[in-house]
Amino acid sequence: MTDWTAQVAFATPVPGPFDYLAGEFRPQVGARVLVEFGRRECVGYVVGIGPLDPDNTRELKPLIALLDERPWFTEELWQSLNFVARYYHRGQGEVLSMALPAALRRVRLPGTRAPLGWRRLIADGGADGGADSGADSSQARTELQTELLEMLSEQWTAQAELIAQLPKAATALRQLERRELVERCELPTGVRGKAASLPTLETEQAAAVASIKFDQGYQPWLLDGVTGSGKTEVFLALARQVLARGKTVLILVPEIGLVPQMVDRAQRQVDGQIVVLHSELAEGERLLAHRAVADGQADIVVGTRSALWAPLPKLGLIVVDEEHDAAYKQQEGVRYHARDMALVRASKLSIPVVLGSATPSFESLANCQRGRIKSVALSVRVGGAPEPRWWVEDLSQAPHKSVIGKQAVQLISEHLARDQQVLVFRNRRGFAPVLICRDCGWQAQCTECDARMVIHRAEGRLRCHHCGKQQQTPASCPECAGLALHPLGVGTERVEDALAKEFPQNTIVRFDRDTVARKGARESGLAALREGGAAIIVGTQMLAKGHDLPRLSLVVVCQLDEALHGVDFRSTERLGQLLIQVAGRAGRRDAQGLVVLETAHPEHLVLKQLLMEGYSSFARTALEERRMARMPPYAHSALLRADAPQRSRLDEFLQVAADKARTELVAGLEVFGPLTPPMARRANRERGQILLMSDRRDTLHTLLQSWLEKLRRLRGSVHWTLDVDPLDWY
Ligand code: ADP
Ligand code: ZN
Ligand code: ZN
Repeated sequence: MTDWTAQVAFATPVPGPFDYLAGEFRPQVGARVLVEFGRRECVGYVVGIGPLDPDNTRELKPLIALLDERPWFTEELWQSLNFVARYYHRGQGEVLSMALPAALRRVRLPGTRAPLGWRRLIADGGADGGADSGADSSQARTELQTELLEMLSEQWTAQAELIAQLPKAATALRQLERRELVERCELPTGVRGKAASLPTLETEQAAAVASIKFDQGYQPWLLDGVTGSGKTEVFLALARQVLARGKTVLILVPEIGLVPQMVDRAQRQVDGQIVVLHSELAEGERLLAHRAVADGQADIVVGTRSALWAPLPKLGLIVVDEEHDAAYKQQEGVRYHARDMALVRASKLSIPVVLGSATPSFESLANCQRGRIKSVALSVRVGGAPEPRWWVEDLSQAPHKSVIGKQAVQLISEHLARDQQVLVFRNRRGFAPVLICRDCGWQAQCTECDARMVIHRAEGRLRCHHCGKQQQTPASCPECAGLALHPLGVGTERVEDALAKEFPQNTIVRFDRDTVARKGARESGLAALREGGAAIIVGTQMLAKGHDLPRLSLVVVCQLDEALHGVDFRSTERLGQLLIQVAGRAGRRDAQGLVVLETAHPEHLVLKQLLMEGYSSFARTALEERRMARMPPYAHSALLRADAPQRSRLDEFLQVAADKARTELVAGLEVFGPLTPPMARRANRERGQILLMSDRRDTLHTLLQSWLEKLRRLRGSVHWTLDVDPLDWY
């Protein structure tokens, strides 16, 4: 009898895999196993199986347990995830673990999982069944058990909820379970959609649906449709076709706040089980949803970035809504881009993938130019609602202290008087970004970062938005003891404050990360706005994205100038996308929408082109500039970011790293650095970076492969990560 070995990878960046004796277990490739790794019991992933090499005299450790009879990954997902590991130069196990719910990454044997919920088995007063039948009388129950039985019904109740009310419930529940009075049960996952009210598609919508074919293999599509043109209806019409073929659909949205809206619409237009996957699900819920998907119970999965890894069997279509959104790029761990990897999954499955946006990313536009993506346009708003008009309020002569311009204030009062809603957009939270002493010039700096502390006035605190450090706002200047401390600049809290003075009679709601920390708050706030009348909404980015607020007719973008002078190579692209997206919130029904931009630079070229010629013309010019400058998407980049407690150590490491990269230089490849990013120190660590650029993706990846191997061998206190296709170069 041959002995078998299993190659096991772990969720560490350390390249593996490591060999273990399979023993009596016969794991499938992709299964999770429990093994000893570095003296600890760990969950690992079987990435290969082979006969034991008789020449292999090393003593191999055995597998401790097999956690999955059947792997969680579909064949295609397995292939795609292995591609992800290679493309982003991360460990195979790390990538596999990223694609699973947290509950499955832990050391925990099957069967010991805490139940998610309970229900009562028999009505009160009925005969008890089971082992101690007869012996069990109401008298024999403890007070706690009685209380629990009263709380439970024949419907599902979450264990967490029971424990929240009765902290010792877990044991009592198990006792009741043994007496067969209650049973553990799992939450029914997802909602059932019913195609009830299908809209008649507009001509362009119907044409878009007709052009996307399902029997022609892999094909990425860009659904390039102005805001309000009915892209979602196109996605859902396509989804119906896919479901009719017995296949499943994956729909990604960039942020959690957009999930309910999408689910709601899907529920009314598609027959099938809809399952939601996103990172705010409780661990147990996430596991259940994941399992439902893997078991083939989901027809449609709607979710945010990480839902890309849903193990949908028979996947027939992937939709990436608002594909330009930066939230699709994971900014820690495996820094993958969900839009790019959606293309990878679709190509392995030979299915179409649809990217939707009113402001397509330059990457996608370049791919359309190259013929890799086919584009289909929706050029008018549904029902012929007019596009919003633009108005630029010139603030170059305005008094320095004004938070909102005079014209904007006037327009806001007019729209409120008509019982409409107004969005005042400011992409910075807090009261003001700087606290300054007018006497000596002192500014409140974070002690851990090269950054200034942001004033949060309602809390009376200063907060660093980079490391989370906070302190009480000082009453006097720590430098000169003077009392001339003043806020400088404007955040959402200050905008709200200024508006409250101008419009004391009106409802003002602020939406930013400070006010909408809780999951339900955002949705209920938006729902109230959808129902309600006149109101001013002050918000950050969070509100600029695809929310549909029917009464919103005016958008004011205040303090725009900061964004006009961005330093990153993508700042123009981002500005254009942001303005068009915020503008898209205005006048989505019959009302004419108006967008007011407040700037001291009304003649700015980017603004002019965007407002006068529209996004595609603006994008064409900006793309041409990228081509001339040989920047992405016409070149490929990777950024090595490093940090260390001491600058000297860091500099030394980066110099060695840069030298090693330069010794391997081939034609078309460039190494920039070591460079210091704009924020040279964060969370008390010094930061530095090296940027690699190449005209060709393959040259870049070949270099990365050998370079990273060398870097991994360098020892020391320097921590580093590699970002392939970074969104920012710092
Ligand atoms: P987009 O995603 O392109 O911004 P939406 O899909 O949100 O646009 O559509 C805008 C509005 O128009 C929504 O309220 C939607 O229900 C409605 N709508 C879309 N298509 C149609 C149609 N064919 N007939 C009637 N209403 C439609
Ligand atoms: Zn001072
Ligand atoms: Zn800080």
